[in-house]
Amino acid sequence: MTYPSETRKRKHEYYLAHKKRYKQQGRKRYLKNREAILAQSKEYAETHKDECLARKRRYYKKNKEKARGWVRAWHKRHPGVEQKRRKRRAAELRKETIAAYGNKCACCGEVSIEFLSIDHINGKGSIHRKKIGRKGGHNFYRWLRMNDWPKGYQVLCFNCNCAMGFFGYCPHNHRSVPDRVSI
Ligand SMILES: [Zn+2]
Ligand SMILES: [Zn+2]
Repeated sequence: MTYPSETRKRKHEYYLAHKKRYKQQGRKRYLKNREAILAQSKEYAETHKDECLARKRRYYKKNKEKARGWVRAWHKRHPGVEQKRRKRRAAELRKETIAAYGNKCACCGEVSIEFLSIDHINGKGSIHRKKIGRKGGHNFYRWLRMNDWPKGYQVLCFNCNCAMGFFGYCPHNHRSVPDRVSI
C-alpha cells in the first residue's frame, strides 16, 4: 500500500493496530446518539431522494453478486414473504383484468369474482395464447394489460364458459335448442 505521506502512513498503521477499540468507540457513540443520527439520516434521505436512489443503483450495479446474496439471505430469513407478495399481485392483476372487461359474466351477469374468467370472444383462446407464447392465467392477464386491454375478450363465469366450450352455446341464450334434452 502506498501513502501520500509518512504521517498518513503512521496514522493508518496506528488505526489498524487499534481498529477494535475505534470500532467500539464508534458503536458507543452511535448507540448514545442513535435517535439524533437516525433522524438526521432520515431527513437527508427525504431531501436527497434522487441522489440516494442513484447511489443505491450504482452500488447495486457494482456489487451485483453481493447485493443479490443479501436479498436471497433476507428471503431465507423471511420465508413465504415472496410467495405471499406474488399471490397478492396475481390476485390484483386478476381483479384489474376482470374489471377492465366489465366485472360480470357477459352471458348471465354473475358478479362473484371467484366464478369469473376471461374468454376469447370467437372461441379461439388457446390457439391465440399459443401464438403469443404465453400460457393461461397470470401471464395471459399480463399480456392483456400490456396491450391496453385489447378488444375481442369478455368476462364469462365458469358455467357459461364451460357450456360454450363443450356445446358451442350457453343454455342461457338457447332455451329453445331442441336437442338440449338429449344432452
Ligand atoms: Zn355466466
Ligand atoms: Zn350463460
